Amino acid sequence: MGEKLAVLGLGRMGSALAAALVERDNEVTVWNRTESKAGALVAAGASRARSPANAIADSEIAIVCVGNYEDSTQMLSDCGDLSGKTLVQLTTGTAAEAESLQAWVVDKQGLYLDGAILAYPSGIGREETLLVVAGSEKAWDRSARTIKQLGGASVFVGENLAGPIALESAMIGPSLMAIMGMIQGAYVLEQAGLDVRSYAEMLPASVPVLTESLRRQANAIANNNFADTEASLGTWAAALNHSDVFGEHGGIDLVGPIRQLLNRAVDSGYGDEEIAAAIKVLRQSA
Ligand code: NAP
Repeated sequence: MGEKLAVLGLGRMGSALAAALVERDNEVTVWNRTESKAGALVAAGASRARSPANAIADSEIAIVCVGNYEDSTQMLSDCGDLSGKTLVQLTTGTAAEAESLQAWVVDKQGLYLDGAILAYPSGIGREETLLVVAGSEKAWDRSARTIKQLGGASVFVGENLAGPIALESAMIGPSLMAIMGMIQGAYVLEQAGLDVRSYAEMLPASVPVLTESLRRQANAIANNNFADTEASLGTWAAALNHSDVFGEHGGIDLVGPIRQLLNRAVDSGYGDEEIAAAIKVLRQSA
């Protein structure tokens, strides 16, 4: 048998977390407000607790994954002493919410970790999946094995509870922008009478270029060195200023704020630098 674990919250994500831990032969106790959602997990070998407090009492490490912090605070309100327990909060929230829950857990003598899951439920349990966690180093030492069963690439980023949510936003942003760009691209193709299916087939070819570009731009920012560029910020700005593709479609100018940022960067004298130099405009306005 592996660890004595509890999973509180069996929605889409919580169910995937619990299933991955049951599959890996841990002793898993589950609790969910709507009891019926525990059925498949109990059939797979999990135990069902009568209350969140009972689930935590039966475990060494308790993983919480519900809709928001308010829900989790309400859910945990009956818990007593947490000596010897590690609470791992994987619900999405703010750094202030994480700090407040950490204070509550520490007050009850427990250890606390707060994490962001950078995956869909189908990614849970895979080697390449990343959970970013912060909080007590002792809690990480105790629960690293369990967390790495949920995502093999998971990392502990230290005590600063702002880390996971900031990293989650920083990781989601590029995906969201790419998906939005694809939607606009598909619309432009439809308007031009072209087949979006062949676009879907071609898109994966752009992924290696995008990956390399993201790494290159992030390193330029980390090194604060924007001198070496293959396509200057000015070239990108000109493309946005002069292309119909990046104009207004359906009454919405999807890249308007990006155009504004790049134009401001050109006006500030960064036109010959790497596109990542646009961060200097953001820094100026901070
Ligand atoms: P979900 O499917 O909507 O499940 C929400 C869960 O929260 C359910 O178990 C629900 O219980 C429970 N809940 C809500 N209010 C509650 C309350 N007052 N007391 C007790 N339990 C309560 O959401 P999800 O997709 O699993 O997401 C859960 C967390 O994971 C969120 O913070 C989300 O941001 C994060 N996350 C999700 C994904 C994803 O792809 N789904 C990816 C990364 C992170 P009932 O079953 O009784 O309603």
